[in-house]
Amino acid sequence: MFAEVVFALPFRKAFTYEIPSELKKFVKEGVRVVAPFGKRTLTGFVIKVTKTTQIKDEIKQIREVLDDEPIFNKTLLKFYEWIAEYYLCSLGEALKLLVPHGTEVESKRKISIDKNFVQQLFQKETKKTTLRYKILLELSSREQITFSALQKAVGKKNIYSHIRNLVEEGAVTVIDEIEGAKVKPKKVKYVRLAKDIKELYSSLPELDRKSPKQVKLLLVLIEAKGKSIPVAELLHKTETSKATLDSLEKKGFVEIFEKEVDRRYKEHYEEVHQEFVLTYQQRKVLEEISPKIKESVFQSYLLHGVTGSGKTQVYIELAKIALEQNKSVLILVPEISLTPQITSRFYNNFGDLVTVLHSRMSAGERFDSWRRIHKGKSKIVVGARSALFAPIFNPGLIVVDEEHDASYKQQDMIPKYNARDSAVVLGSIHNCPVVLGSATPSVESRYNAEVGKYKLMTMPLRIDDAKLPTITLVNVNVERKKGRMDNIFSRTLLDKIEDRLKKKEGVIILQNRRGFSTQIYCEDCGEIEMCENCSVPMVFHINKNTVQCHYCGLEKPVPNACTHCGSINIKYFGIGTERVEDELQFYFPTARISRIDSDSITKKAYLSNLLLSFGRGEIDILVGTQMVSKGLDFSRVTLVGVVSAETTLWLPDFRADERTFQLLTQVAGRAGRSKITGEVIIQTQNEKHFALQKVLQNDYDGFYKREIVDRERMGYPPFTRLALIETKDKSDQKAKGAAIDFRKALKKFEKHLKISEPTTALIYKLKGFYRYHILIKSSRKTDPSGKLLRRAVIEAFTEFNRVSRFKDVKLFYDIDPQSIM
Ligand code: ADP
Ligand code: ZN
Ligand code: ZN
Repeated sequence: MFAEVVFALPFRKAFTYEIPSELKKFVKEGVRVVAPFGKRTLTGFVIKVTKTTQIKDEIKQIREVLDDEPIFNKTLLKFYEWIAEYYLCSLGEALKLLVPHGTEVESKRKISIDKNFVQQLFQKETKKTTLRYKILLELSSREQITFSALQKAVGKKNIYSHIRNLVEEGAVTVIDEIEGAKVKPKKVKYVRLAKDIKELYSSLPELDRKSPKQVKLLLVLIEAKGKSIPVAELLHKTETSKATLDSLEKKGFVEIFEKEVDRRYKEHYEEVHQEFVLTYQQRKVLEEISPKIKESVFQSYLLHGVTGSGKTQVYIELAKIALEQNKSVLILVPEISLTPQITSRFYNNFGDLVTVLHSRMSAGERFDSWRRIHKGKSKIVVGARSALFAPIFNPGLIVVDEEHDASYKQQDMIPKYNARDSAVVLGSIHNCPVVLGSATPSVESRYNAEVGKYKLMTMPLRIDDAKLPTITLVNVNVERKKGRMDNIFSRTLLDKIEDRLKKKEGVIILQNRRGFSTQIYCEDCGEIEMCENCSVPMVFHINKNTVQCHYCGLEKPVPNACTHCGSINIKYFGIGTERVEDELQFYFPTARISRIDSDSITKKAYLSNLLLSFGRGEIDILVGTQMVSKGLDFSRVTLVGVVSAETTLWLPDFRADERTFQLLTQVAGRAGRSKITGEVIIQTQNEKHFALQKVLQNDYDGFYKREIVDRERMGYPPFTRLALIETKDKSDQKAKGAAIDFRKALKKFEKHLKISEPTTALIYKLKGFYRYHILIKSSRKTDPSGKLLRRAVIEAFTEFNRVSRFKDVKLFYDIDPQSIM
């Protein structure tokens, strides 16, 4: 028997292995195996098992099987094949999305050192500057080291020839050591009584004389009526030592055994459960979609419901129907740790059937969630982007909430998939409906509804006939001339805040920038303090009294003088959330103010506790970045203020207007979710801008109609499909050279595609790497499926690798990029 195995490496082909007879029973399609690959040992995925093979060369054997049950089947495999094909990665790289981090088994090549011998060699070295000297120095104090650790220690990559020489001299050997999975099921020691209680009682008196401590332990176990107790808990409770328990075990009184425990992520945010009579518009959506769930029919829906129209309840009702059909449900939300409210509502309705999956969980918690889903115990999965790859075999419903959210796009790792678009494909493969919900649908999704790819459902009314908030644009330039600006706040906004504070109503203030000041500027030489690794300004953080780069994380003390000319005339510009918080506290010294941004919510339960306090009215004002615009549903919020609409409007990106419209409409939607009408004050320098005007008029359709015309005229999605090619290198010349060569390799596709010349990326230097971009546009008219676009990228890549001098430069491609910065 033979198995075809793919690895999470950039090779597009599968490799054939022989299945040794003792593993025959266990190697199936869909399991992970450990197998030798080149000089290494790696975890791979079995995509096919065959009786014969055409291969004539020597065939290696599979070493080990990792899964008892397949983690994917033929249907799911189709989905991963689509991911690989569409986002241009290998099947193995796509399948890697399916497994929880830290469960792969891998071999690491290590250098095993003969210390004495190495020390002798080291003493013989006369030249103290050579690489060999440095290597010997590092080796002489150790028993073992990995290649990468040694490379790091000596600060050079090219250590291989030196190591080879040392192997020949007999000073070191290279070994291939398997590193097991980092995450494993958690086992805890438990103890229970091993004897009948009556029998125990008769031995107690004697035991009491000799070792009263043992009796103490037994009594607790007797009290537990035969139930087992975790050993640690028992010892802690009785203040006894493990030795006492061990002697009880020796005497046969108790039995100690291991039990697997489930690590569950605990959400601190809790709401009281509420039952609702559905509104007319909620019922209508339900009537449309439930038959699709029952009959296993694929259909994608765009659910356009204004903020506060009760979309979450629709998801819950649909999930109930899927459960009745004994099917599972997948609910995707933008980074879930930011939306405790929706999670809590699912827990309230479905209890332990719900599991969450997101980046704030520990690796162990995620692994256990994953296994519960795989075993079919958790039928409702609520998770962020990557939950799309949870091992669900029979979904009856897939929901993508806030489908417009940019966080559905994977930006950092390969493959750079979009979870929203992939969810639609997953639904079509599983034959289940897919619901994309939003109050501000993305232009692409709204267009898909227009051309009939998605079915549009609308919920234009708020629950309980609550009115949408009244919105006012405040022109800060005009106000400043009138003397009605106090630093960053207009009098208008300050007066409104004061009024709400008096009435004990909730206030949310948005400023979509972290930190205190976002730029440090020298008045003498005109330079801005930039990050040394990235071409972006350093941001001043007053709480830590440092300057930070928000792209690479570099943190430094605040400079006393300009780092360019030494002048001490430095000024701080740009407003971040810390500054907003600070100034608010100045104007309203007794107000209770809290801040929500990625600096403040680093601790696990912080956000949940903060929202609980806000809901109870213990916090008056929430200040935050776009995090305060997402999903929050508090009826006591009656005022939303936006310090500056410009934070997103001025981004050099074709989606800047769309992002601005969405952010402002969403944050506005946090206000007025009760009888009292809400109010929104947006401070801006661009009050005439159409995106802001459409926010003001609460006119999504108007926004869409105008935006879609611009997109067509400019040749942007949804009328074209984009691919962004990025080269990056520590050397500017090499990054540029690679981009030029790649552009040459694309030349033969120029007739059918619109291909930009290589340009420096908007963020030209990032984390120490220089970056160049090529943007490729393919018209939907001539290339509806995007096949041509993808072929061009792949072929150019092959050609580039064949001819370019710069093929060691890092090269990335991004299909349907979210941002082109
Ligand atoms: P959306 O997600 O559309 O912004 P939510 O789902 O947060 O809106 O709903 C707004 C509020 O209305 C929530 O507090 C929710 O509990 C409540 N709600 C939902 N459906 C109903 C209903 N049928 N009757 C009364 N209240 C409802
Ligand atoms: Zn200067
Ligand atoms: Zn940086």
